[in-house]
Amino acid sequence: MTSWSLLSEYFALILIVVIMLFFYDSKQVHSARRRLFWNCLLLSVASILLNIASVHAIENIGRVSVEVNKALNSAYFLVSVLMSTAITYYIFQRLLEFVYDKRCLQRARLALWLVLGVYTGLILWNLYSGVIFYFDQAGNYCRGPLNAAGFLAPVLEVGLVLVCYFRNRKSVGRAMVRIMWTVPPIVVLLVLYQVAYPEQLLNGTISALANLIIFISFQSSRIERDPLTGINNRRSFMEELTLRMAGRQNYQVILVALKQFARVNQVYGHSSGDAILFQVAGALQQFSAGGRIFRYNSVEFLLLIPGSDEKEREERLEQVLSCMRREWPLGESHVAVPFCAAELTYSGQDCTPEQIISYLEYCVRLGKEDGRELVRFDGETAQRHRRREYLIRTMQAAVRDGRFQVWYQPVYHRDTGSFDSAEALIRLSDEQGQPISPAEFIPVAEENGLIDALSWIVLEGVCRLLGSGTVPELKTVSINLSMQQFLRKDLTERIEDMLRKYGVAPERLKLEITERVLADNSQLARQTMEKMSRRHLEFLLDDFGTGYSNFSSVLGLPFEAVKLDRSLMAGLTNDPRSRLMADTIIPFFHKLGQQVVAEGIESREQAELALRCGADRIQGFYYARPMPESELAEWYRSRKKAAEHT
Ligand code: C2E
Ligand code: MG
Ligand code: MG
Repeated sequence: MTSWSLLSEYFALILIVVIMLFFYDSKQVHSARRRLFWNCLLLSVASILLNIASVHAIENIGRVSVEVNKALNSAYFLVSVLMSTAITYYIFQRLLEFVYDKRCLQRARLALWLVLGVYTGLILWNLYSGVIFYFDQAGNYCRGPLNAAGFLAPVLEVGLVLVCYFRNRKSVGRAMVRIMWTVPPIVVLLVLYQVAYPEQLLNGTISALANLIIFISFQSSRIERDPLTGINNRRSFMEELTLRMAGRQNYQVILVALKQFARVNQVYGHSSGDAILFQVAGALQQFSAGGRIFRYNSVEFLLLIPGSDEKEREERLEQVLSCMRREWPLGESHVAVPFCAAELTYSGQDCTPEQIISYLEYCVRLGKEDGRELVRFDGETAQRHRRREYLIRTMQAAVRDGRFQVWYQPVYHRDTGSFDSAEALIRLSDEQGQPISPAEFIPVAEENGLIDALSWIVLEGVCRLLGSGTVPELKTVSINLSMQQFLRKDLTERIEDMLRKYGVAPERLKLEITERVLADNSQLARQTMEKMSRRHLEFLLDDFGTGYSNFSSVLGLPFEAVKLDRSLMAGLTNDPRSRLMADTIIPFFHKLGQQVVAEGIESREQAELALRCGADRIQGFYYARPMPESELAEWYRSRKKAAEHT
């Protein structure tokens, strides 16, 4: 009588139970895929238990009837193939996860049903024919001519998986590749060993090892999950995007960015903020059919859905938008969270996953800037994005090659009748030597952090000029400070270091900031300004009258002067209301102890009117256009000569 060693089966059983304990997590979303893996584990346990029971029954054939033995063995054969088919189907699902063409999965399913069907037929037939196993007269277990069919089935399934893998390997994820290089060889080797040494029962070991590798590769990988919401994270988004693009699959991406979420956290507390994020993730999940949802950033969610049906895409987008417009329940109350969505469709264009990300981020930025709810990455946006990328490249090259220049625009002072100050303005030309307006490149530099480098270029240029004494008429020069630069903690120290380096008194440098800087960070702004004023660094309020105007930001802040924007000055000669406004606000600033600079003065008439309204300084093309440093001294000389002649 054959005798079997059950040691490896017991060992496999313990291993699978351990995997089950680690896998079970009541707080996880019970997706269909998780359920399938759980069933694979259950089937593995059932198959091992049946195997152990069958062996014990055969060994006790005197006490256990042949019928029970037959039934136990048949059940074991059936369940073991059911288990291998379930594991194979799970592998197929993961293998084809990022393959849009679902016909592959359908074909795989059909093939597996076929294997299972034929095998079940064989088992049933075996009850009469004994082609797989039978019990002889003495009640001994005997192998039939087709006994190896039980092993043939998993080997066949491995073969199917391999074919599928090699056909779709471009779109197969990293974890799956690892599985493909480990599970099939292990299965084939152990099956061969089992056939050679039938008394060593290895079925349980094979399934336990396959389950273990799958578990380690996928199920235990918290790396790919966002711990708060349980959905996929940015890392898994990048992987899926890369794989889908490698397979040139069409897809739609919708990025939903929550706005002003810091306020939600501030007002309701962080745990309520978390609760809203959890709800948003859950609500968006319902639109991810056929695709997946990701938490891309703390307050940004992404839907990646394969397919190219335009109508479906539009409907989905509309549903996502209307879902996000709702108010989120929070205890007794409901909270509306403003958001901005970006949409992009990919249909095989030549670009990288990083570019796709940069397009989406750009759309969200545009949406936030313009207060739009939705920005699509269409032709126009693509063009703006290309220009922005070009500007970034050009600025980076210009910083590297020292191609930025500082120009100066002299400012007329009414009390002395001369041009005692100037404003420093940065200049950049493209590769063809065409000037690029700072109004275009400064906002881009502010967004991507380049502004810091630019600002120090200007500061150094100005300090060098003031320290050199080449233009003695120039008593002070003002520089423009961007928001980012103004908020730097070490701003005062860095400016003072630079002034010291070129031996320039702090009174000679003025700092221009706009109201936008103040509006966003009024408390910090006040502290910084007060600290710097104590060190004799004075401020000018730039662009007063350009939309952000708010008298409260000017009141009580230590501005040496206010610059009235060109748009206010433009109507001075022909619009009585502009005249009335100038007549009113200039004395107002004077009463606050602040001087007034009229900006953008282009004609003699405008200059005379500005002076008549009380402006203390005039800056504009009428007197001087911004000019490079090399022309500045000459300009002052020619002014002096002209003044001497008159
Ligand atoms: P801003 O600080 O208000 O600078 C004055 C702008 O008005 C300059 O434009 C100047 O050339 C222009 N301007 C002066 N007089 C006239 C005039 O009579 N008519 C007209 N039409 N324009 C006049 P620019 O140099 O193109 O600079 C635009 C803006 O870019 C600046 O406005 C400032 O906000 C920003 N910017 C320029 N240089 C820097 C810099 O070094 N750092 C930072 N952060 N921003 C800068
Ligand atoms: Mg300015
Ligand atoms: Mg200005």
